[in-house]
Order: sequence, then C-alpha cells, then structure tokens
Amino acid sequence: MAVLKIITGVDNKVLRACSAPVKKIDRKVKRLVAEMIETMQAVEGLGIAASQVGVNLRVFIARLNFDTANEIIVPMINSEFLKESEQTEEGEEGCLSVPRVFGVVRRAKKVTIKYTDLRGQPQTLNLSDLNARIVQHETDHVDGILFVDKMVREIEEKDARNAI
Ligand code: ZN
Repeated sequence: MAVLKIITGVDNKVLRACSAPVKKIDRKVKRLVAEMIETMQAVEGLGIAASQVGVNLRVFIARLNFDTANEIIVPMINSEFLKESEQTEEGEEGCLSVPRVFGVVRRAKKVTIKYTDLRGQPQTLNLSDLNARIVQHETDHVDGILFVDKMVREIEEKDARNAI
C-alpha cells in the first residue's frame, strides 16, 4: 500500500472530469480504496475522492461522525442521492485539491445516499450536518465540481475550522 499523490489545481483536467461508474469491484478497486484511505489519513482529511488521486472512477471515502466515538471511514462506490432536504445550511469547507483556500458553501442539511460497499452490497444512509456536507462535497468531486464553484464567500485560512 502507498500514500498517493493528491492532485491539485482548479483547472486540472482529471479533477474537472465527470468520473465513470465502477463496473466491477475487483482487486484493483479494492487496492485503490485502501490507498485512498491511507492517503486521507496521512493528510487528516475528512474525505477523498478517486479523482483527487488521479483516477476518474465514481469512488470516494467519507469519514463520518468525525471526532466522536462513532467515527467511521466509509468507502462509497457509484453513489447517488435518493433525497436532498430543501432545508440548506451554510458551512465552512476546504479541499485537499485546492490548498490554502477556505470558504462558506450552502448545502442540503440532510441527504439520503445510496451506494455500493466494497463487498458489492447496496447500502443506504441518512446523513445530516457535517456528514451530509462531506458526502455532498465528495459527490461533487466525482462530477468534476469543486467547492470553489459554489463558495458564497471566502474566509481567511487562520479563521478556518472544520475544513474537509
Ligand atoms: Zn475536496
């Protein structure tokens, strides 16, 4: 296993591409997921998408329930939102692929996300607040969207908390 290089730059072609669905969860995909988790942990990220390590597949990792006893690392493959709440909220974000930029993004407060797990089983999760924000940020990556596209205002790096 290895820590992978994180791609940066708002104009990077891989970051801006719409990623393709995973057809089969083979050893290659499992290895990619393991290396993405290792990479996310090395940089203390709350999530990471495959495009951020140079692979245009619909795969991301979310670190849910961050900083609680229930913290879990969840790989999500070929995810889709079944529901996004009309209620939105503003929150701070940063991105491993856009270093030193932090800003406020308005997102759905609650989402229902369906995805395929590493064993190939379909799963559904109801998520809210920071958990919902993380999976929305990562789903945007899979679609070639970066948080700076949606940022309502930038904040100073020194004032940034909860960067994902
Ligand atoms: Zn990001």
